[in-house]
Amino acid sequence: VGTLSIVGVGPGAEAQITAAARAALESADVIVGYSLYLDLVRAWLPDANFRPSPIGDEAARARDALLLAAEHERVALVGSGDAGVYGLAGLAYELRAAMVWTGRPPPEIEVVPGITAALAAAALLGAPLGHDFAVISLSDLLTPWEVIVRRLRAAAGADFVLALYNPTSTRRGHRFQEALAILRAVRAPETPVGVVANAYREGQRVTVTELASLEAGMVDMLTIVLVGNSQTRVLDGKMVTPRGYGIPLSPNPLPHEGGGGFECAR
Ligand code: SAH
Repeated sequence: VGTLSIVGVGPGAEAQITAAARAALESADVIVGYSLYLDLVRAWLPDANFRPSPIGDEAARARDALLLAAEHERVALVGSGDAGVYGLAGLAYELRAAMVWTGRPPPEIEVVPGITAALAAAALLGAPLGHDFAVISLSDLLTPWEVIVRRLRAAAGADFVLALYNPTSTRRGHRFQEALAILRAVRAPETPVGVVANAYREGQRVTVTELASLEAGMVDMLTIVLVGNSQTRVLDGKMVTPRGYGIPLSPNPLPHEGGGGFECAR
């Protein structure tokens, strides 16, 4: 009986994958995953034994991977970002517990962490996640919209920085409008907002704007939206949420340039 490694490969670029994730893929007998993610991997692991599957039917894919792992030594199931964040890792554990493994022990499951979209986007935007943040998916495919709304209201009201995954799809464009209305009811119009499409992938787009200017047309399923808290500022085009060091916000001369400025304690 083998091991199923659930591998988060990061946002897309080869440089953003961890050494452990790469090693798990290199040592796998079979690599299972949604074809788009496998194409990212194929670029630097051309000779691996890939078993691509279409998007959707995640349960079938995870079940496939588990059955393969019962027969092979090492099977890798690839996910983008971190495979445990809105990914297949939890599903694999659930299926492993629910499936009947007559005459053979169930495969071991190992989760290999990856850089999730919120962290990749944050790095491109500056440092928006410098203080408490909440991660919310706006997809109502598997979660009732009422639950999403309740969490969004609570997190927005508690002044968390927000990382919004799955902001919209063509099928539910109006949902994003609804989410925007909830945010605008409690956050100032000038609240900085970062919109990142295709982080560390072809077609990367990084936009810093403000809540008042955020529109549904700026987001799609390859986009993540980071909404600042009441302290978040835009400094030289970068979105920054202060940790609380008390650095003055307006630029002022360095001490050696004429005094009065903020002195860096060393
Ligand atoms: N497991 C993934 C998230 C899967 S949910 C992770 O940890 O990153 C899919 C959503 O993630 C997308 O709708 C988008 O909001 C976000 N996302 C994933 N990769 C992204 C990327 N490279 N750039 C921007 N957003 C991304």
